Amino acid sequence: MVLMADQTIVLYPSPAIGHLIAMVELGKLILKHHPSSPKISILITTATFNVGSTTSYINRVSQTNPSIQFHHLPILSLPPDSTNSSNHHEFLIFQLLRLNNPSVRNALQTISQTSTIKSFITDFFCAISVLQVTENLNIPTFFFYTSGLGALASLLYFPTIHENAINTIKDFKSFKDFDTHLHIPGVPPILASDLPKPMLDITDKVYHEFLYCSANFHRAQGIIANSFESLEPQAAKAIRDGLCVPDAPTPPLYCIGPLIADRAEGKEVHECLSWLDSQPSRSVVFLCFGSLGLFSKAQLVEIAIGLEKSGQRFLWVVRSPPTEDKTNHFLAPPEPDLSVLLPEGFLDRTKDRGLVLKLWAPQVEVLNHESVGGFVTHCGWNSVLEAVCGNVPMIAWPLYAEQRLNKVFLVEGLKLALPMEEVKDGFVSACEVEKRVKQLMESDEGKVVREQTSKMSEGAKVAMSEGGSSLKALSELVALWKE
Ligand code: UDP
Repeated sequence: MVLMADQTIVLYPSPAIGHLIAMVELGKLILKHHPSSPKISILITTATFNVGSTTSYINRVSQTNPSIQFHHLPILSLPPDSTNSSNHHEFLIFQLLRLNNPSVRNALQTISQTSTIKSFITDFFCAISVLQVTENLNIPTFFFYTSGLGALASLLYFPTIHENAINTIKDFKSFKDFDTHLHIPGVPPILASDLPKPMLDITDKVYHEFLYCSANFHRAQGIIANSFESLEPQAAKAIRDGLCVPDAPTPPLYCIGPLIADRAEGKEVHECLSWLDSQPSRSVVFLCFGSLGLFSKAQLVEIAIGLEKSGQRFLWVVRSPPTEDKTNHFLAPPEPDLSVLLPEGFLDRTKDRGLVLKLWAPQVEVLNHESVGGFVTHCGWNSVLEAVCGNVPMIAWPLYAEQRLNKVFLVEGLKLALPMEEVKDGFVSACEVEKRVKQLMESDEGKVVREQTSKMSEGAKVAMSEGGSSLKALSELVALWKE
């Protein structure tokens, strides 16, 4: 049966760049493999603050995929006192998305005047507020989870972790200083204090947003995850077996990844790619920390010393240190002054084997360059998938969100990364940077990670080829939307 053109699937990504890209790529994937599928409409949230440079990406996709319709929702701004309620930027995102509800409803009503909405796919960050809109309008709703299955298993299991804590610990307030291990089905044991920061402190409002969100996954028709079966088989099995949600049915899980941004084509070649052209094969360590990763000046100095002492070639993205201003959570940081931030003479002494980039690198292109042989990453899930697809082994240095969990899964479970160990409160010494970078590039431990990465890189290709697990899962979904 061929689908009628007056049917639509609506995608509703969270505005953060790492979330948005994966969902837009899902739209592209549907159209590529199922050209007779319903039309794809994507609702774009615009805020008065910047959440990563999404505009150029969206413009590029609109030009190359004219059949995808982008609906730009009316611009939003948060009430002036919003930053007082919680220190976590996730709380601001939840709040912002709640304010979006009337516009989402309007957009859905407008779309349904000319087309039947067969399905609504929402980022889990948006899901918590938007479910009431889509349930009201009777639109089948799927949750899209932008991180890995290990993190998803942990999120689904969070209400159980919470219940256990309040039932067994007198006056339970926070997991922050807990050095006990949590045993979450399908993943290696994790320290309670490694839970994402917004899920640590029961007295913080954002904790309850996550709890509510975790406890409401069962309302989805299905969970779509940006991962692939052979990457995280144990977590996939635990989720499907219902072990992560003991008290309610778990919706079907569809792994349709890895979804990563296409390399930009036809643009000028970035200076770092020309520089990489002149470096030996697999010799360069790339250091880049997602859309929001920032370090103090003291930490930048330690990294510089460690890199210099390691003797390895490197490509390093440097940003200005964070400010204390909470209203600045999402603003692009100012351009860093390298002469002030890095040790005196560092750039000159390392100029033959290192390149420092300010603010941003074309990461997907870099990770696919032949000269790159290692990646020091903050463990954001897109970065992880991009490294796997580029066949680049990692050193895991988590900074925020679910990244401390991802580090455990990558290092202890999947063996795709070596750990970067902190001294205290996330601070890493120059010695550790030197040791880990050398270990990855020169030692047997590095070789093990490299070999495992190669295997998974192949696994990713197979999953995304005709008959592969991810494309099969996508076909199942499209068949479901045809019903
Ligand atoms: N990114 C990039 N250049 C940079 C930093 C980040 O292209 O200098 C891209 C990266 O390739 C990835 C996304 O931004 O696609 C970051 O997503 P991720 O999930 O890794 O981390 P987040 O920013 O969500 O913490």
